[in-house]
Amino acid sequence: MQAQLPGNLFVVAAPSGAGKSSLVKALRSFDARVYPSVSHTTRAPRGQEKHGREYFFVSEAEFDAMVASDAFIEWAHVHGKRYGTSKKGIQDRLADGNDVLLEIDYQGALQVRKAFPQAVLIFILPPSWEELRSRLENRGEDAPEVIELRMKNAEEEMAQVAKFDFVIINELFESALFDLKAIIHAQRLKYLSQRRLRADVFESLNLSV
Ligand code: 5GP
Repeated sequence: MQAQLPGNLFVVAAPSGAGKSSLVKALRSFDARVYPSVSHTTRAPRGQEKHGREYFFVSEAEFDAMVASDAFIEWAHVHGKRYGTSKKGIQDRLADGNDVLLEIDYQGALQVRKAFPQAVLIFILPPSWEELRSRLENRGEDAPEVIELRMKNAEEEMAQVAKFDFVIINELFESALFDLKAIIHAQRLKYLSQRRLRADVFESLNLSV
């Protein structure tokens, strides 16, 4: 992917139950300048999920064809299915100066870093193992053996935290949301972003380049 795109690319990863989806959903209700990316997946839709909204639901053969044509910035096997982020969807938005947020697993996040080193990688941790387990149990979505599997997977996922730029500990939801907003805000205050977003000010101060 092109190295110098004006928008920021944020990547959020977390083990299942850490609260990633709720945080990202809340963020988006406050901040319309962060666009989500709709991933492709080989898993079947659940509940009210719609093609093109939560995911693009594709067959194994369609996914294979996208891999072969190098259409993904990253893709990975997660819980036995394949998930990938298409380059096209994010490149155009970043080129237009918008920010894009990917909510993907850690393997994908680390691939994005390789393809696009200026991506900002954010990891969300639960405050403790006990709390992670009780959140998974209280969701009431998973059978006990699935919870055990998610807890086991969480060990492997959380071992990757050192490779991320930022860590949010989701103990209190409001405070974790504040942290997420702060990271995004700080990124927008960087010189290159300010030059682009507030070009008028730079011009009036005769600050060139
Ligand atoms: P779910 O099937 O529950 O929606 O998602 C399962 C996991 O796949 C979550 O951790 C989610 O973040 C991850 N995931 C969703 N989209 C992508 C993607 O495009 N790439 C990767 N690597 N992981 C993804």
